[in-house]
Amino acid sequence: LTFKGGLHLHFSREETEKAPIEVCPLPEKVIVPLLQHNGDMAKPLVQPGDHVSVGETIAESIENNSLTMHASISGIVTTVGLLPHPSGKDTPGIEIENDGMNEKFVFHPFEKPWREAAPGELIQKIQSLGISDLSSEGIPTHIKLSPPSNQQIHTLIINGIDPEPYIASDLRIIIEKTEEFLDGVLIAKKIIGASKVIIALEDKRHVVIQSITSWLADTRFREIQVAIIQSKFPHGNDKQLIDAITKKKVPSGKPNYASGAIVLSAGTALALYNGIINGEPFYQRLITVSGSAVKRPKNLLVRIGTPLKVALNTCGVDMKDVQKVIIGGPMMGITQTDLSVPIIKTTTGITVLNQTTPALESYPCIKCGRCSQACPIHLIPDRLCKFIKKNKIKETLEWNIMDCIECGACAYNCPAKINLVHYIRLGKLYGNKLIQDQKQMSVKGN
Ligand code: SF4
Ligand code: SF4
Repeated sequence: LTFKGGLHLHFSREETEKAPIEVCPLPEKVIVPLLQHNGDMAKPLVQPGDHVSVGETIAESIENNSLTMHASISGIVTTVGLLPHPSGKDTPGIEIENDGMNEKFVFHPFEKPWREAAPGELIQKIQSLGISDLSSEGIPTHIKLSPPSNQQIHTLIINGIDPEPYIASDLRIIIEKTEEFLDGVLIAKKIIGASKVIIALEDKRHVVIQSITSWLADTRFREIQVAIIQSKFPHGNDKQLIDAITKKKVPSGKPNYASGAIVLSAGTALALYNGIINGEPFYQRLITVSGSAVKRPKNLLVRIGTPLKVALNTCGVDMKDVQKVIIGGPMMGITQTDLSVPIIKTTTGITVLNQTTPALESYPCIKCGRCSQACPIHLIPDRLCKFIKKNKIKETLEWNIMDCIECGACAYNCPAKINLVHYIRLGKLYGNKLIQDQKQMSVKGN
């Protein structure tokens, strides 16, 4: 199964996909930002000087689209205020200094067998656990699992394909935590009431395909199917998976559920299991640390808020060799200049490079169309770029700029080396502003 567009990238995931899950040492302090997802900020419940335990609620969700935050280490709150954030801008957050005790708060598993619960009860519990989708999209899971009541969802897709070159954390979850992961998949299926549930796996991952197929022979999991997806970037993106599996496209400007399918990552399914069965709030996650400057690539279980440098030290990174640190993968990740920024709920991995491609000189567009061929959303990147350069923002909206998933395939495929994604990101920023202004004007008009 596949989708139209995309790129056949030549990269290896062999080292990281074979690296078993290891626990990252606890840091001396963590920074828990109040905004780690796609939504509104949480409201802090603690003050400097307070003592907190692992899993204790430290910030509450005040809007439906905000996320509850929990302490990821035990210790003393030292700061509630502006702190480093992977976005590059200091953002409100809570800093906790480790007391070395790793003392856990009391966790409350869901009060009855989940099969007997109403979907709304499970959603409420998930919201209190602060689970967001573990992909970089970062939509709170309680929102993803609550489409409007008039929207029928026929298919639940579990994304077992890591989004970027080198990253293999979802794969390791499926290999090492298979039973818990599959139970989490069934919990999600129960909530959305989909008739079909499909785990998407990449065709090159023979070991995981074999292992999961044997698990699915168990009567408990027989309602789950597997779909094998052709290895092609960005096959780990939700929209491309929906396209490849259901042969339906997400309508432009609409959320994914408008296609009748919902996609959750493998890591999110495991978080649902840990939350509903063990009552564990979402205070730790699995990330892949890899790249040419990493001596020992690892899949690390890290506490949310751990500074990047702690994960890099654990993997034997010699900072003298490092030229670039990216949160996420090499295609869609964000370059970091401050290693004290924290790992957050949406961090899939850290890529550390010791040799970057020298900045390439760009040339005028030769109208070859290779950017459009590569675009998995079927946009026309060169045209969008032309509009942005001329400040024609209304036109970029008409040509669906907001559908761009910023995968970078267009720029990668461009022989003139035009940094198309840079222009498109800029265009989306202006586009968003124009949409907000138009909304405000229509409210005033009314
Ligand atoms: S790939 Fe580059 S050169 Fe070719 S049409 Fe697109 S922007 Fe122009
Ligand atoms: S970055 Fe946007 S425009 Fe470029 S290929 Fe990806 S989705 Fe298409």
